[in-house]
Amino acid sequence: MSRPGPVTVLEASASTHLERSPLAPAWSVMAVVVLSCQLLILTGCAGTQRSFSSVVVKRTQMQMGTLVTITSVAPDRQMAQAAASAGFQEIHRLEKLLSTWIAESELSRVNAAAGAEAVTVSPETMQVLKDSEKIARLTDGGFNILVGPAVDAWSVLDRQEVPSEAQLAGLRPLTDRRGLSLDEERGAVKLAKVGMRVDVGGIGKGYAVDMAVGAMKQAGATAGVVALSGDIRTFGLLPDGRTFPFGIRHPRLEGTVLAFIDLQNEAISTAGDYERYFERDGVRYHHILDPATLQPARDCQSVTVVAPDGMTADGLDTGIFVMGRERGMALVEQMSGVGAVIVDRDGKVWISSSLRGRVRMNDGSE
Ligand code: ADP
Ligand code: MG
Repeated sequence: MSRPGPVTVLEASASTHLERSPLAPAWSVMAVVVLSCQLLILTGCAGTQRSFSSVVVKRTQMQMGTLVTITSVAPDRQMAQAAASAGFQEIHRLEKLLSTWIAESELSRVNAAAGAEAVTVSPETMQVLKDSEKIARLTDGGFNILVGPAVDAWSVLDRQEVPSEAQLAGLRPLTDRRGLSLDEERGAVKLAKVGMRVDVGGIGKGYAVDMAVGAMKQAGATAGVVALSGDIRTFGLLPDGRTFPFGIRHPRLEGTVLAFIDLQNEAISTAGDYERYFERDGVRYHHILDPATLQPARDCQSVTVVAPDGMTADGLDTGIFVMGRERGMALVEQMSGVGAVIVDRDGKVWISSSLRGRVRMNDGSE
């Protein structure tokens, strides 16, 4: 290990963000528990810790179908607790807005009206959809919020079926992004065909960590971490002046850290093929689909993105996972403030130029 001291291990999310599955296997939940315990160590296992007249509070709750851990640093305990509560409340609000598991959510109403009529949504939902489309364009369609019908066909956490090519071909017209109309002036969203649906599972957790951080700052936190499973955003510094240390999980060696990185006022997010998958005849089928083929994307084992905000990190990790190592890394290299660690299909680790010198491999090299 190149670096002493406790770190939080960053996992790809073990459960879908707004796509809660009541049938998620126990092992995936356990993986998140490991994550949350390590975060606990980072901020002091007693739950609170006083240092340099700052108080650190760490709390964990189940939200958006996954474990959410908030670490809050503030001048006093009451303020640190209030800021953590504000973060959780914000995530709860967003779940009601964006989840497609809640029938009354705005996105559920959009999906229910697919092929029939436009649905009026809040400016916030419109903005999430617009930002999702922006990531879709950046990743050349690798990121696609209309891929939901194909995600259902694979049902990686539930039925675990390998759909036939004919079945996938039948679904392809439903995943065509041109079928999503965003009328900003009227605040209306329309899906062109019956059976189409919007699924912001690949980006919404990133948006939620951004908004939760905003709520915490407003409530008086001077620093903190919001970790929605594998989507994490930090702000400020630990009371002793250190940045927040994180470990990126090895995609094939369970419980092993691949590399370490410190974050300050940044977000980090990992998309991996190792959390939600099943194997059939020796082939691994996982939950990130290539919209071009509707098959699981094949070029990477994991993609970790560091970005100024959570939504960019979360959207890009999924999109780059689909684009593959070469095209994905080329995109990262042209985006300012964005870095990536990509483990390709052969297990080779690629680090963007912006992160070289910041990422410390667990074997001691840089
Ligand atoms: P996690 O949910 O593990 O954080 P991601 O951020 O990569 O992982 O999002 C994966 C989820 O996004 C899938 O479970 C599915 O709901 C959805 N998804 C799958 N493939 C795509 C894709 N190509 N573009 C956008 N969303 C996708
Ligand atoms: Mg993502």
